[in-house]
Amino acid sequence: MTASPLIGVLALQGDVTEHELALQAVGARTARVRAAADLSGIAGLVIPGGESTTMSNLAIRMELFEPLRAASLAGMPMYGSCAGMIMLADQVTDARPDQQTIGGLDVIVRRNAFGRQVDSFEIDLDIPTLGESPFRAVFIRAPLVESTGPGVEVLATLQRGTAAGTIVAVRQGVRLATSFHPELTGDTRIHDLFVQIVRRHT
Ligand code: GLN
Repeated sequence: MTASPLIGVLALQGDVTEHELALQAVGARTARVRAAADLSGIAGLVIPGGESTTMSNLAIRMELFEPLRAASLAGMPMYGSCAGMIMLADQVTDARPDQQTIGGLDVIVRRNAFGRQVDSFEIDLDIPTLGESPFRAVFIRAPLVESTGPGVEVLATLQRGTAAGTIVAVRQGVRLATSFHPELTGDTRIHDLFVQIVRRHT
């Protein structure tokens, strides 16, 4: 177990700095991942929010998909937020035809799932695994989880409104994904959970 594990943040596009700060706040060290060589030496990987189609294009250009899939298959813990959740999903509804994912998370995710009127919103979520106090969740053109495979634990669903019951946070072993952006609100409990997963794994 490493007290201060080195966690990579995929730095092709998206809100990389915010994730680095959140990870550092819970005691991890961080490194940016832009090329296959950057994957060696890291104990886990965060895939930030941004735009999954752009991330996919850049990962294809940087020849990163195969090394990322190999790292995932070898058991590297990965956490994806928003576009990052899409990057971890085994299947994506409304993906662009040439869009690729790393996969490894046995879910079907729908991109841009909330429609124009509710493009972006903030809501208090109950996430029992993080304790009693609600988690302020920021959704920005967010994906939702349409279905989960047998090994996937649902960590949070929307509780109110027409989208009640919608799955917005999941975990499958060492893989974690949220539709929302915990790196934007100063509540570090999701990052803390991920760092604990990494610590237990190493
Ligand atoms: N809509 C974006 C996508 O499809 C995700 C948005 C986000 O990460 N905030 O990748």
